[in-house]
Amino acid sequence: MTSPRRTFAIISHPDAGKTTLTEKLLLKGGAIHLAGEVKARGQARRARSDWMKIEQQRGISVTSSVMTFERDGITFNLLDTPGHEDFSEDTYRTLTAVDSAIMVIDAARGIEAQTRKLFEVCRLRSVPIITFINKVDREGLSPFELLDEVADKLALDVTPMMWPIGMGGTYQGLHVMGDATDALPDAVQEEVELAGAGYPEFDVEAYRNGDLTPVFFGSALREYGVDQLIEAIAAFAPPPHALPAEPAPVAPDYPDVTGFVFKVQANMDPNHRDRIAFMRLVSGTFKRGMKLTPTGHGKPIAVHSPILFFAQQREVADEAFPGDIIGIPNHGTLRVGDTLAEKPGVRFTGLPNFAPEILRRVALKDPTKTKQLRKALDDLSEEGVIQVFYPEIGSNWIIGVVGQLQLDVLLSRLDAEYKVAAGLEPSPYDTARWVGGDAGEVKTFMDQNKGAMAKDRDGNPVFLAKSAWEVNYIAERYPAVKFAATRER
Ligand code: GDP
Repeated sequence: MTSPRRTFAIISHPDAGKTTLTEKLLLKGGAIHLAGEVKARGQARRARSDWMKIEQQRGISVTSSVMTFERDGITFNLLDTPGHEDFSEDTYRTLTAVDSAIMVIDAARGIEAQTRKLFEVCRLRSVPIITFINKVDREGLSPFELLDEVADKLALDVTPMMWPIGMGGTYQGLHVMGDATDALPDAVQEEVELAGAGYPEFDVEAYRNGDLTPVFFGSALREYGVDQLIEAIAAFAPPPHALPAEPAPVAPDYPDVTGFVFKVQANMDPNHRDRIAFMRLVSGTFKRGMKLTPTGHGKPIAVHSPILFFAQQREVADEAFPGDIIGIPNHGTLRVGDTLAEKPGVRFTGLPNFAPEILRRVALKDPTKTKQLRKALDDLSEEGVIQVFYPEIGSNWIIGVVGQLQLDVLLSRLDAEYKVAAGLEPSPYDTARWVGGDAGEVKTFMDQNKGAMAKDRDGNPVFLAKSAWEVNYIAERYPAVKFAATRER
């Protein structure tokens, strides 16, 4: 018998307390022994890799990892998500691999920009959300203000599950909604009665549909309300369910092993040019040594040394079950968005791709390093750090990103991991479109616009345009050609 799975992520604005809460969840799950270890270990790991200095300097986290812990017979897989609003492609993709999310809100700040963005991604995918209002050990907004803020800003039904008996200096504990109120101070008793009458009752179906969020109050730092939060995840958060795929959605009880890659991380250990593809297992029982075929390209690969992530210590896995995340070491064969399956024919859909919004020309400082640069750009585009475009004419390679911070990460990693000194210059292009459609027309179009054509890392044709206006103009002239803002997978 395998234990039930809860695969989830924490979404929050930087500083709301995600790291502290993660640490406490792992601690309660017996996965780590000392509070402080999540950051401490994170920092030790970071120190190994120079490019991660950006994280330290800016106090942000740009990598994501997987942490597994167990409690009361349930296996929890917590997928960490980077918290910076400028670098969120990774986060968005990680949210495709979870079944639910915890939304952490700072009691003094309410809903902040990044929380809201991440929430919107969850809503798009109907990911159910449990809300944890953190830092009740400090003065903050009143519980009513906080509940109404969540309800109004996110257009979501809210059900308080706990009620703080005072906040900040007057904090005296947490009251479980529905329990007798006689022992409470009069003022709190009144609040609890008002709240009980004023908000909808908890409805697990509405929560699982993404229409309602149960709200917990607490303090990650002081461990208030953390047990109740874990219990709620165990009791209400959905187990792994069917995921959208072609030709049909795949349920966990589908007999074959299937999964998809939602993240690829290169150079986790700078001494080895290893590359770990993070696969969410969707169905079947994975056993070590199994052969899995990436759908659409490539030969079957034998997964001899899969990695499970037990509180950040990599462990070799013998078996894994739907909802688990497996790290698959490889040499660049696996890409974000790939489906892996025992038998080919299934393809998971709906992994978000992002149109590059900033295009830059890469200027190499030492021309003898062309080969290294190409290798680095290929690697980093495969990881999803950047997108790369190789023009048909000339050697002015172009990279595309969604956020400014990705550019800093790129330069820093080129230098630290590939020993390539490069700069970024303005590019004449403003946007990129993947070209497809009628083969004859595509050829005509490409022949007539050679100067603006490029290939992406996989050799797909891309049209580099000087403006959105030009895209429209060209699209009108070549009606049988399709211009896509993101690459179809
Ligand atoms: P993250 O950026 O969301 O990962 O936030 P951190 O977990 O790093 O927390 C940001 C700051 O808030 C740190 O200084 C924490 O010690 C502090 N913090 C986190 N949780 C609490 C809490 O429950 N109460 C108080 N007073 N401070 C907290």
